[in-house]
Amino acid sequence: MNKRKEVTKMRRGCIAVGEVRCDGCQRLLEHGERYVVIDDEEGKEQRFCTSCSLSCGYASYKMEKEGEVISFFPKD
Ligand SMILES: [Zn+2]
Repeated sequence: MNKRKEVTKMRRGCIAVGEVRCDGCQRLLEHGERYVVIDDEEGKEQRFCTSCSLSCGYASYKMEKEGEVISFFPKD
């Protein structure tokens, strides 16, 4: 039996309210800045600012009436 371990990465969008550092570019996020939290297969949390999550494919832009809106849950 060769059962492959299923990798599930939980992804949720958050707003920075304290000191949050991006695990991608090591930048401290500003208060109120949006970021995304990824739980990897080991249950470790990783935080990415919007530009890092965009470059990693964790987020995407979508167009709304008001302009560009970042979505952390791109449709697949
Ligand atoms: Zn970053």
